[in-house]
Amino acid sequence: MCKMLNIAPPDVCESAVHLFEDDMVEVWRRSVLSPSEACGLLLGSTCGHWDIFSSWNVSLPAVPKPPPKPPSPPAPGAPVSRVLFLTDLHWDHDYMEGTDPDCANPLCCRKGSGWPPTSRPGAGYWGEYSKCDLPLRTLESMLKGLGPAGPFEMVYWTGDIPAHNVWQQSRQDQLRALTTLTDLVRKYLGPVPVYPAVGNHESTPVNGFPPPFIKGNQSSQWLYEAMAKAWEPWLPPDALHTLRIGGFYALTPRPGLRLIALNMNFCSRENFWLLINSTDPGGQLQWLVGELQAAEDRGDKVHIIGHIPPGHCLKSWSWNYYRIVARYENTLAGQFFGHTHVDEFEIFYDEETLSRPLSVAFLGPSATTYINLNPGYRVYQIDGNYSGSSHVVLDHETYILNLTQANAPGATPHWQHLYRARETYGLPDALPASWHNLVYRMRDDVQLFQTFWFLYHKGHPPSEPCGTPCRLATLCAQLSARADSPTLCRHLMPNGSLPDAHGSWSWPLFC
Ligand SMILES: [Zn+2]
Ligand SMILES: [Zn+2]
Repeated sequence: MCKMLNIAPPDVCESAVHLFEDDMVEVWRRSVLSPSEACGLLLGSTCGHWDIFSSWNVSLPAVPKPPPKPPSPPAPGAPVSRVLFLTDLHWDHDYMEGTDPDCANPLCCRKGSGWPPTSRPGAGYWGEYSKCDLPLRTLESMLKGLGPAGPFEMVYWTGDIPAHNVWQQSRQDQLRALTTLTDLVRKYLGPVPVYPAVGNHESTPVNGFPPPFIKGNQSSQWLYEAMAKAWEPWLPPDALHTLRIGGFYALTPRPGLRLIALNMNFCSRENFWLLINSTDPGGQLQWLVGELQAAEDRGDKVHIIGHIPPGHCLKSWSWNYYRIVARYENTLAGQFFGHTHVDEFEIFYDEETLSRPLSVAFLGPSATTYINLNPGYRVYQIDGNYSGSSHVVLDHETYILNLTQANAPGATPHWQHLYRARETYGLPDALPASWHNLVYRMRDDVQLFQTFWFLYHKGHPPSEPCGTPCRLATLCAQLSARADSPTLCRHLMPNGSLPDAHGSWSWPLFC
């Protein structure tokens, strides 16, 4: 079918099928269907009920929810710390300058991409605006150039280390990427603690993250063990313990703050292992509730980091997560994700009215250029570190490498400050209500939206302009921290018709 439907060149099809077949067959073998389910699947709903992703609920403690209490702004002169945020590095070991950036394979600019016709330029030395990932020298240049953006109290690093050559990756390739980049990050960050989260590209086959009930060679043990070993200098023993089991952990990076790193592959629509059972894989959300309740009891605040943003998750996982965020709105001080490769956010609302903004998840821009982007990274300014700090995000800054300039003959790479959020968007603070207001200001102010669109692509927007349907779909995505919830966008259109965050508008596939 891959060949018939022309999904990829024949050799890519063959490699991909060969790579995925063992795990896929195992998943099908284990997701045995009942007669009614089989009939529903084959003949439709008149014959039987087939709903492999049926809904489920985590249980919240009986403790009543405290009244909502938005954080008060820090006193003038209170300490502010800087947190470096790295995501989606996507190192391509086989990146090669001069190769064809527009090859037939899903990933180009590399050994095996061939050479471009003389009418077109080849891949640049520092990277390329195309379906290409980064050579190690660009990632090293990024880490080497962090100085002016620091100093940092800590680093959040939300995954996707290997490249997008997903049809031919071995476990050895993935582990080489993990250890090479971990060593490089440690080399340049030195004593600054780094807190990583697992991305969907860390495994092979890509997105394949069996929940902990899968044992033996097909389990994720090879990956989590290697992570625990590589990240041992940064994580305490109890964090390494849960990392080894399920790829998630919690720790206390500073007094009064709990950091929770989620394995968002357990929410993923692309993780085919969830066909066997998608109910709270690894018990992760129930564990999250326990962590949040304990933090609330202690009077601590919580940051959550993860790779895939909650609005992109399977419906039931996403709805449960949304409910948890709303329950612990006073405790949850920050949410940080990656995966989309672009610079955006997702706003959470109260469940009763879906109109009071109570939390915001920041989706930081990727290091990689994939696809058509400048390389970049993010710095968050956080309240603290002092006793009684709110630990909330006060502002954020984005840094990029302008590839056109960097690849010019004789140039050296210059990582530049692209923008500061509050100044650029005129926000009184970086709290949820300000991001909510920004979305509705951008609905009415096309000029303001164009600024957002430019920064969304890290200063390299597509040549085709973003018209009204594209603008509304983009804004709808910022309102959609809960999957399959079109009503979250009900106020975007005056006549009540709904734009669709992830459906009708055709999105480029970045992640
Ligand atoms: Zn990615
Ligand atoms: Zn990803």
